[in-house]
This record gives sequence, structure tokens and C-alpha cells, in this order.
Amino acid sequence: MRPTRFRQVQIASQSDVGRVRSANQDVCGTFENAEGYRLLVVADGMGGHRGGETASRLALESIGRVFDRDFGEPDSLLARAFRAANDEIHRVGASDPSLHGMGTTGVAILIGPRDEGCVAHIGDSRAYRLRDGRFDQITEDHSWVCEEVRHGRISADEAREHPMKNVLLRSIGVGADVEVTVTPIDLKSGDRFLLCSDGLWGEVGDRAIAEVLARESPSSAVAELVDLANTHGGSDNVTVQVAALLESEAESSTAIGTDGPSGAPDGSGTHTFLPDERRRWTRAGVIAASLLAAAVLFWRVCA
Ligand code: CA
Repeated sequence: MRPTRFRQVQIASQSDVGRVRSANQDVCGTFENAEGYRLLVVADGMGGHRGGETASRLALESIGRVFDRDFGEPDSLLARAFRAANDEIHRVGASDPSLHGMGTTGVAILIGPRDEGCVAHIGDSRAYRLRDGRFDQITEDHSWVCEEVRHGRISADEAREHPMKNVLLRSIGVGADVEVTVTPIDLKSGDRFLLCSDGLWGEVGDRAIAEVLARESPSSAVAELVDLANTHGGSDNVTVQVAALLESEAESSTAIGTDGPSGAPDGSGTHTFLPDERRRWTRAGVIAASLLAAAVLFWRVCA
């Protein structure tokens, strides 16, 4: 029996190539399982044109596969999913010279059906939370400049303009092993979470992001934030996902699941798993299992 859900979640995603790049190496995706867990993922690939696209797509697929098939304990799910992505990207990169050294960032949030959630990340794609009017970054970049800021050697403002601002200390798939940062979080109705690649936070300040996130519906927020990043230069691919934990059943009656476009406009490398799709596949599975059982019974009776 499906447990009663504590809340409804409204999700929207958008990914855009930006104004300068010729290809979008960012991907994003949303997943949901029968227990009411939602997973949002953003990945920002690197390693040449083909390598970057391949790495971020493989990360999304690997993380989604672990969520779909090997959910297990929520506590360890994201760490296992990110390590599976690292193994897959590293294996493919090692077997194809044109993809050698490819990697990707990754940030994911797992939203449970009650008050428990989890954030995992590697690299400088970020997660933010808006709660009771307060906007906080809930991931800490695995980047050289972030480490310098932490040690007080440069300021946060200097980090934004620093020539080494894109140097990552950790990424998915480059090495044979990787350390995943996993942070358990509590969830409250009214919370809004935002995941993004550096194409957003590199162009748009925290204050402007928070203002849009607080004012708009998730679908309008992701569209406006992508527009803002492009208006400010659009020097990189930009990807934004928003999840809003709604206050009440009544508020959410027409807005369950995703409420807007998800992933790159061309759909490349994007996996969006809508609840209706899930139900359709579940029904097909039940019919297939029934037919198989009938066939086995027939065979045993006839044998
Ligand atoms: Ca980027």
C-alpha cells in the first residue's frame, strides 16, 4: 500500500545553451518512485565538445538507474548513485580515446514523502534553499577558489572574478574513485529548493536569484532565471531546477509533479520521469506478469 504523502511537490526545470556556446553540455532530470520519493539532478559536463555532453548524460542516466532499480536505503542512495555514475563515466572514458578525461559536476536533491531529504554534490553545481524568506546555499563548491575563500586567502567577490574560478577539485568520472558529499536535510512545507549549474550563479547574483524564486511559480522562476543569465551575457550553458514543497493538499490539487518544461530544449540527454508515465509502465508490467503467470500455469497443466 502506498503511504500517505506528507506534501505535494511542484517541480520545474529548464536548460539552455546560453548566448556563446554552440552546444549544451548541461543536463537535468527529475525522477519519482512509487514510495513518493522525488529526485532532481543537474549535471554540467566537461572534457571537449563530445566528452562533456557524454559525461553529463551518463551521469544523469546512471543516477536515475540507481534510483529506479536499486533504491535501497534513502541514506545511502545518493552516494551509491554518484559512485555508479563515476564508475560508468570513468569506464567509458578509459575505453574511448576521444572521451579520455571527460567528467562532469553533479548535484542532486532527494525529496522524501515526509520530512526527510538529502542533497549530494560533486563539483560546483549548486543547491540553494529558500525558507521563511531566508535564502541559503546548501552545497559548498569543490573548487579551488572556494577552498581559497574558506581559508581566508581571497574574498568571495574576488572568487567570482578569479582567473582560476573554473578549476574544480572534484568531478565525476575523471578518476577511478570519487568522494561524494552527501548532506541530510529536513523538509518543511513552504520550502523552495533550487539546483543550478554555474551558468546561473556565475551570471546572476544570489539576491536576484532569491527574489525570483520567492516571487514566481516554479515554471515561471526557471524561465525567468534562464532569461536573466542570458541577459547578463549567457557566457555558459545554464540549467535551473526548482522544487516547491506546497503548503496544503488544496493548493496542490492541480499542480502535482512537474509543472513545466524539463531539460534542454532539444531534449538531448534529458530524462524526465512523469508520474503518469510511471503509472503507464506499472500497468504494462502487471499485464505482462499476468500473461507470463497464465502461460506458466498452462504449461504446467499440459506437461
Ligand atoms: Ca558550466
